[in-house]
Amino acid sequence: MSTADIGLIGLAVMGSNLALNIAEKGYTVAVHNRSAGRVDEHMADAKAQGLDGNTIPKYDLADFVQTVKAPRSIIIMVKAGQPVDDMIEQLLPHLEAGDAIIECGNSLFTDTQRRFDYLKPKKIGYLGVGVSGGEEGARHGPSIMVGGSEEQWHNAEAVLTAIAAKFDGESCCAYLGEGGAGHFVKTIHNGIEYGDMQMIAEVYGVMRDGLGMSAKECADVFKEWNNGPLNSYLIEITGHVLDAVDAETSKPLVELILDKAGQKGTGVWSAIVAQQMGVPATAIEGAVAARSISSRKAERVAAEAIYGKPDRQKTDVTLADLEKALLAGKIVSYAQGFAVIAKASEENGWALPLATIAKIWRAGCIIRSRFLDQMSSAYAKGEATNLLVVPDFVTIMKDSHPSLRKVVAAAAMGEFPMVCLSAALSYFDSYRQARGTANLIQGQRDFFGAHGFEIEGRGSDLHGTWPSTLGK
Ligand code: NDP
Repeated sequence: MSTADIGLIGLAVMGSNLALNIAEKGYTVAVHNRSAGRVDEHMADAKAQGLDGNTIPKYDLADFVQTVKAPRSIIIMVKAGQPVDDMIEQLLPHLEAGDAIIECGNSLFTDTQRRFDYLKPKKIGYLGVGVSGGEEGARHGPSIMVGGSEEQWHNAEAVLTAIAAKFDGESCCAYLGEGGAGHFVKTIHNGIEYGDMQMIAEVYGVMRDGLGMSAKECADVFKEWNNGPLNSYLIEITGHVLDAVDAETSKPLVELILDKAGQKGTGVWSAIVAQQMGVPATAIEGAVAARSISSRKAERVAAEAIYGKPDRQKTDVTLADLEKALLAGKIVSYAQGFAVIAKASEENGWALPLATIAKIWRAGCIIRSRFLDQMSSAYAKGEATNLLVVPDFVTIMKDSHPSLRKVVAAAAMGEFPMVCLSAALSYFDSYRQARGTANLIQGQRDFFGAHGFEIEGRGSDLHGTWPSTLGK
């Protein structure tokens, strides 16, 4: 009997929590997993939370599919990559025209586009859905970025809208565009997340080593900042991370954690796609590079032995400077991220709604922050795609970029690495200057490669008469 409103395959951390969330919202969910043990574990969790009544365990795939009401919406939440393709192939023989596969993992958007194109002629809908918020978000309300088959989106819309986070009563779930649009937006979300985290870490470095603050003192500052314009999930959790004490040593936990950051790929994908489209995303690129440098611990230890410890004298930057510098850096980073999305929208014919994207990032996801509400309003008014020229943000940048400048300058003199914040400042300075220095680059390009240059009033593809340097 087909009794489930929706099906879900893949009961690891994310899938299991999403299934519990769905059941809690009053929908009946059929669940399946490759290894049966996870189905049993999930049912035990569902029972403990009083949600087993809305959960139907299925151990056989064909039986699972039949349990879902047609046209079927079947979520797959398995390991990204080949397992997703394998799962699609296993499901296909059991599906009917009009059914949909809703893939909610962290897939590369080009893979999602390929899967969408593959299933379209078979009349099977494919939704590539970005889900942000980690385990907690999946259970209690993530931000949900939907892309793919619009018709089948409407079949799943009620469930996905219900399980998403809410901001002022509005669901943080939206359909964004065809094919890989949802996973593309999720990728850039993660790229922005990399930038935010790196900038916060750079500011922490100045507090710790330049201002000589303890972890507890840093924690208190981040907690205070969370009440101001920087209010966001990442600032909030930074306060908690800095506050945590190791039970074994009674030392701040953060001081025991090795300074090597991992990454799973979405930051790199964001940087690559931005470069491919010719959109500068220097904050994301800087953040990805910083994680790579961090992971080369042994090389860094060896290099420090050669150059000596950084000469970190006391800096004269204030906490107020650091707060404003972080705000300015974040605005630049978001401006870059949205510019990447705008360009991808144009290139792929997606018509990505920037105001809606900012809206569904206001709650549930890792980059949720107060200023996304302001960004959403700015885009809703149809103001420019680059936030740096949107009036509200111009006001904030005018007020805060001097602090960013002061902090980056102090970092340079104090031997603090500031990969991300300095990249943001350089982008800002490049973007806001009418006259740059690429005239010299065009001259050089013409010199060695006859690439031509443009002179106002005289036309383009002009050439200089250059001396020969051959044989010198
Ligand atoms: P994992 O990425 O660890 O994947 C484990 C699940 O995939 C298990 O259910 C496993 O089944 C299943 N699986 C693996 N290979 C296959 C296969 N070949 N065929 C069928 N099933 C397979 O789970 P997570 O819950 O951590 O993440 C799920 C997705 O969500 C991933 O794409 C991840 O990147 C994404 N994501 C994760 C977040 C997180 O915070 N963890 C946040 C946002 C997105 P079995 O039990 O049989 O091994």
